[in-house]
Amino acid sequence: MKLNLQDTFNKKLPADPKRDNTRRQVYKSCFSYVTPKNPSNPKLLHVSMDMAELLGLTEENVRSQKFLEIATGAHILKGTDPYAMCYGGYQFGNWAGQLGDGRAINLTEVEHKDKRWALQLKGVGETPYSRTADGLAVLRSSIREHLISEAMYYLGVPTTRSLSLALSGDQVLRDIMYDGNSAYEKGAIVCRVSPCFIRFGNFEIFASRKDFETLQALTDYTINEFYPDIKAGNKEGYIAFFNEAVTNTLAMIIHWQRVGFVHGVMNTDNMSIHGLTIDYGPYGWLEGYDPNWTPNTTDSQLRRYRFGNQPQISLWNLYQLANALFPLVEESKPFEDILTKYNTEYQVKYISMMRQKLGLQKAIETDTQLVLDLERILQLTETDMTIFFRNLANVSKAMEFKENDSFLDFVKDAFYKPDELKDEVLKEWRVWFKGYIDRLKQEDMTDVDRKTEMNKVNPKYVLRNYMAQLTNEAADNGDYSLIDEMHTMLKQPYDEQENYQKWFAKRPEWARNKVGSSMLSCSS
Ligand code: AMP
Ligand code: MG
Repeated sequence: MKLNLQDTFNKKLPADPKRDNTRRQVYKSCFSYVTPKNPSNPKLLHVSMDMAELLGLTEENVRSQKFLEIATGAHILKGTDPYAMCYGGYQFGNWAGQLGDGRAINLTEVEHKDKRWALQLKGVGETPYSRTADGLAVLRSSIREHLISEAMYYLGVPTTRSLSLALSGDQVLRDIMYDGNSAYEKGAIVCRVSPCFIRFGNFEIFASRKDFETLQALTDYTINEFYPDIKAGNKEGYIAFFNEAVTNTLAMIIHWQRVGFVHGVMNTDNMSIHGLTIDYGPYGWLEGYDPNWTPNTTDSQLRRYRFGNQPQISLWNLYQLANALFPLVEESKPFEDILTKYNTEYQVKYISMMRQKLGLQKAIETDTQLVLDLERILQLTETDMTIFFRNLANVSKAMEFKENDSFLDFVKDAFYKPDELKDEVLKEWRVWFKGYIDRLKQEDMTDVDRKTEMNKVNPKYVLRNYMAQLTNEAADNGDYSLIDEMHTMLKQPYDEQENYQKWFAKRPEWARNKVGSSMLSCSS
């Protein structure tokens, strides 16, 4: 196995001089050297072969004992220096001080075909940043992270990737619902991969400590390594860099809203500086279209991170990033100008994305109202977002709209309780469909072409929470086959895939209020 190692983060930035895993506050350093915990009986459960190939690894490589050992922290590649990063963050709106890689250890960076990838093991024991926790991860949350990282990539959503999923062989104690019922669970290790794991929180920690020297070192490093068109070391460069962070974050959020993804824990330590979706915990998918929904029970009171609030929370987080970078610029206007643009740009991009979901190529002023009406009506009766938009592509623009309800054929599969549809709701749907079909008539595309276009942005298969739950339950009983089935299916989320038709279905009733399906906590 030959990996082209190209460490930069831990070679070019200020380091914590002490090499040990003991929990502590770390100052004036971007990271600490650490040693991954030795797993007692590691076993590989799944490898994302596409990701492996991007690193230059073959099938034979990933089947080797050495790969298993590297992917679980048992073997440290010669010439590498594993490290944990120092960062802080605002958790649920409150400054939390030093957080950092509490259960993630970066192994090294690998260069292959002009691309650089950082490899990071999640769940290999404590680091200086573990605070009161153990640095370990359980199988259920690791399966969820492994599958969703790859699924998001294939959905076209910017994301960190996952190379492999393994059992550590160790038992991990967790209290899933924080109600005093702790139990041992199987420990697991995911090997995450990303061009970069730097978060908003990496900048915030140094600003909060008034350590502007390290703040500048990190900012210059990030610009030099990832933005060849920006010149580091001056105010214009820092502003241009901030502008990139805003643009990329906004693009990511539009994708989340497009596919119905709810992150669940949008703390600033979980926001990638490059606008990649990162740190998959109690995330979920909208089933019934509901902007107020969040899968995270830890947030069930205030619902800060609910679906409909994600765009505004991103902006709030970007304000915190601006505050962190401010000491390098010492002028607030350039930041304010960029942040003010966010709302208008979001509106424009959101409507343009929704037009695509509706199969509209022309931009007509009344489209915004069509979208707003749809969002309102979708909430009048529980309507599955994924199924609704996928089925909408079957509408024909030649359809003569009569006062019968044939239009409902296109969407009735998306209603959770079709028999209970009230007359007044039906009336609203009639009016909306009439408007929609009239609007389609203004398009030049044929029905067939429109369907093709719509199917490129409206996924057929997403990792619904109950599907992840079924995969977890089977895995807990030693059956790992669903992991591969889900992975294979989610690689082509926009394709029909006849053999996976059963997964194009509404959430079953048993999963409505089930822990692990609709109720998830941060316990992982
Ligand atoms: P999260 O919001 O889940 O991404 O994590 C918030 C902070 O808690 C981060 O600094 C994590 O590294 C840390 N953390 C979460 N779970 C653990 C754990 N089991 N052991 C150590 N640190 C953890
Ligand atoms: Mg995190």
